[in-house]
Amino acid sequence: MSDATKNEGSVGDGTRAVRAGLPEPAKNEPTLPGPVFAAHFHLPGEVSGPYAYGRDDNPTWTLLERAVSELEAPGQDAETLVFASGMAAISAVLFSQLRAGDAVVLPSDGYQVLPLVGAQLEAYGVEVRTAPTGGDAQLEVLDGARLLWIESPSNPGLDVCDIRRLAEAAHARGALVAVDNTLATPLGQRPLELGADFSVASGTKQLTGHGDVLLGYVTGRDTEAMAAVRRWRKIVGAISGPMEAWLAHRSIATLQLRVDRQNATALAVAQALRQRSEVSGLRYPGLPDDPSHKIATQQMRRYGSVVSFTLPTRARAERFLAALQLVEDATSFGGVRSTAERRRRWGGDAVPEGFIRMSVGAEDPEDLVADVLRALDESAE
Ligand SMILES: *Cc1c(COP(=O)(O)O)cnc(C)c1O
Repeated sequence: MSDATKNEGSVGDGTRAVRAGLPEPAKNEPTLPGPVFAAHFHLPGEVSGPYAYGRDDNPTWTLLERAVSELEAPGQDAETLVFASGMAAISAVLFSQLRAGDAVVLPSDGYQVLPLVGAQLEAYGVEVRTAPTGGDAQLEVLDGARLLWIESPSNPGLDVCDIRRLAEAAHARGALVAVDNTLATPLGQRPLELGADFSVASGTKQLTGHGDVLLGYVTGRDTEAMAAVRRWRKIVGAISGPMEAWLAHRSIATLQLRVDRQNATALAVAQALRQRSEVSGLRYPGLPDDPSHKIATQQMRRYGSVVSFTLPTRARAERFLAALQLVEDATSFGGVRSTAERRRRWGGDAVPEGFIRMSVGAEDPEDLVADVLRALDESAE
């Protein structure tokens, strides 16, 4: 059934998600085999077959990797490799593809650990160029680059760029293209169909969606490039535990349910925030008048579960977060329990003091909207 699902371009996202990566049904075997805990596998004589040592491969990863490939690139010949975290996956692509003397283009408004990665690449002799996600500004610094790194929508600013346009321009200059697909999830956006060579994501967020697993993955089409990513995983050893991989696979069965519910509620929360005079800089790509909406509509199938906005002061933002009852003050996003945080507390993002990133969970939409509006009222001076 797994192969049938893979080749069936026409099945819906829910159908694909519940069946993704499942092995052929076998009598008296479970639908989704449990995690295989093994540091090593029986290996008499010559080294052959897929499973020899647990840092190189594991049958639980294999099923999860098939599942992610079916979602990221349905009907296409793509390969996925899972990692210990989103950062492990991101670093695997950047450090396996770039050499001293190469130039790389990163977003200037991407995930807050990217600048640290950029500094490390520079220390290894890679030229790092940055430009904002919005307005396709990365186009202007592409000449001579070896790799373009896109994050769309960007975290936490929720800007969107035209992935197809940027990928075409990068390929015309001989550069590889990677897209951080964390915020959209593969049900929201399929970067490989938009022309990217790699779709990379933190599975810690909405893909697994319960706030209890760290995971990352790289999906790619180019066999040679993916072999280098696999080699990087082997030499660095940033591998997922079998239990985490299995939990991730189990969670993917409900991905479409969670994403559809959370995204619809995110739009409702954004619409409620839009009515409030103390809210500025409201961003949600699904809002028809959002600056990202037009391009988002062209390339995204769903707009995500994150809403960003700014309250007038740091103190107001702190009082707002403290007054929320259904939304926990915590980082990360995409989980079934709503969270929000004052992003500036980390020091990394170039955002105002009162900037809030809110991750909308699976609570009843009316409860959540009421909680947000009440907390706004209570936090007023
Ligand atoms: C969280 C996040 C990452 C890093 O993922 P981890 O699983 O925490 O390592 C990378 N990119 C984006 C856009 C993220 O939100």
